Amino acid sequence: MPVTQDSTAKQSQKVDVLVVGAGFGGMYALHKFREKGLHTVAIEAGDGVGGTWYWNRYPGARCDVMTIDYSYSFSDEIQQEWTWSERFCSQSEILSYANFVAEKLDLLRDIKFGTRASVVEFDDATQRWRIETEQGDIFDAKFCILSTGPLSVPKGVAIPGADSFEGELYLSARWPHHDVELDGKRIGVIGTGSSGVQIVSVVAHQASHLHVFQRTPSFSLPMRNQKLDPEYVAQIKKHYNAIRAVTRMTFSGGTRPASSRPLFSVTVEERNAMLEEAWQTAGHNLLGIFSDLLLNKDANDVVADFVRKKIGETVKDPEVAEKLKPRGEPIFARRPCLDTNYYEVFNQDNVTLVDCLTTPIERITPKGVIVDGKEIELDVIIAATGFDALTGALLSIDIKGREGASLREKWSEGARSYLGMTIHGFPNLFTTAAVNGPSALANFILLNEQNVNWISDLVDHMTAQGHDTVEATEAAEDRWMERIAQLASKSLMPKANTWYTGTNIPGKPRTFPMYAGGLGKYTEDCQIVANNGYEGLTFRGQSATPTVHKARETA
Ligand code: NAP
Repeated sequence: MPVTQDSTAKQSQKVDVLVVGAGFGGMYALHKFREKGLHTVAIEAGDGVGGTWYWNRYPGARCDVMTIDYSYSFSDEIQQEWTWSERFCSQSEILSYANFVAEKLDLLRDIKFGTRASVVEFDDATQRWRIETEQGDIFDAKFCILSTGPLSVPKGVAIPGADSFEGELYLSARWPHHDVELDGKRIGVIGTGSSGVQIVSVVAHQASHLHVFQRTPSFSLPMRNQKLDPEYVAQIKKHYNAIRAVTRMTFSGGTRPASSRPLFSVTVEERNAMLEEAWQTAGHNLLGIFSDLLLNKDANDVVADFVRKKIGETVKDPEVAEKLKPRGEPIFARRPCLDTNYYEVFNQDNVTLVDCLTTPIERITPKGVIVDGKEIELDVIIAATGFDALTGALLSIDIKGREGASLREKWSEGARSYLGMTIHGFPNLFTTAAVNGPSALANFILLNEQNVNWISDLVDHMTAQGHDTVEATEAAEDRWMERIAQLASKSLMPKANTWYTGTNIPGKPRTFPMYAGGLGKYTEDCQIVANNGYEGLTFRGQSATPTVHKARETA
């Protein structure tokens, strides 16, 4: 594809690797490729590192993966130097960690902040990528790595009248960087996914009155957060590398329990005791104490009933409790929330639950929100309405591959790629922790490390073999997509209307575009591809004819 005249007139910066995004994936990619001696530059739309933790600084923002797992494993020095204060850390501590790593690795000098990629276009003549930014930069790169994150494009407030609101309106995913005074205000929170649940649990204690606008209720489990005991931290640090070696091969990429025991293999009394223990110690353990909760609907129903009972026991008003109980979708098919006293706040006199399933928000007015024909007056609206997940950030960029082929067109019926890292028709373009890999189903930091390491090994292989470009074959991509579909077909996760399936965005094709076999199995799949001489990839050298490495049938 010849580059446009307009573009050629501008001065471009020639690099070996251009990384888009400086969240945990992009930061590690920058470090890894720079370490190889490749001229690597990262661009980042925000004004600092941290990705999701840079943007999502709403009240109560906290990670639902344990901190001992949700941190880089590639550097023992970083592991030993950094000490987490809590079992599940706050956004501000995770952002401090990201900045600590950026400083430690001296990353900042090669990141261009406040810079958003707008066009990523392959030049057939030079076999290189041309990246344009909204700020007017042009990069000319041999490799382009898109570490744009699965949850980085907020859905916004698609409710009529939102622009007319005269109070303060905040998006949870674009929370301002200045202090926001919420004490004593009339607040409305729209959305009760992970973000909304965390916000509600905090602002309920600040608001003069809080209205929670809930459409689909989420299952929320007690986080049971706690300060980390120094002796425990010392033990973790002593054995960190061994712990990481194990967690990398688990389903989630974390240290939480993962049993091989099906739910109906124990007596009713035993399973009730186990469910109760998980509830009392750490709600996220509920997912791991039995092996079949994502596979067997009857087993899943038992756990869903258990959580519904807990909601009923916590919330005093039976009508409110009933509205808070999720029904009609398996538990864990919608990502479960982890909370601190979420259901308890509905016992406060200053908190009102508005059931938007029976009485949807009709519109937003200058003074508040109209529901069921009545205006609820508000000083502040917080929209925690979710994201155009998985594909939103990639498709917000105009990506054009060989012969001008558009990624938006290629993905019009759903995202297609190989291993969630490489796309047929888009040579030397890589995605990390992206759609068609485990993505948000796995510990995001370990997954990013695995992806970047795999791509890095592939680039070493190309250098050794004298190849200039690499891309997935169409056949390998087809087989990988069959594998994604086959794994999804065994799971209950595709059965809910969520950002997992794309149904939260009107018009988006319904798919389940994540690898549902777990991080460990996925890592094995990627390793097999490498061990078999990078099967399913086509390499081209400057003088050589294309070398196609045929993919085997995947199991
Ligand atoms: P989400 O799970 O997609 O939730 C969005 C919520 O907004 C849903 O309850 C949705 O209802 C509601 N909503 C959207 N439009 C609405 C409208 N017009 N009227 C009323 N309600 C509306 O988004 P999220 O809470 O930001 O979480 C997304 C993901 O981010 C999580 O699943 C998690 O992976 C990640 N996250 C993690 C953490 C953590 O680590 N603790 C924290 C926050 C987020 P419907 O479902 O009916 O559409």
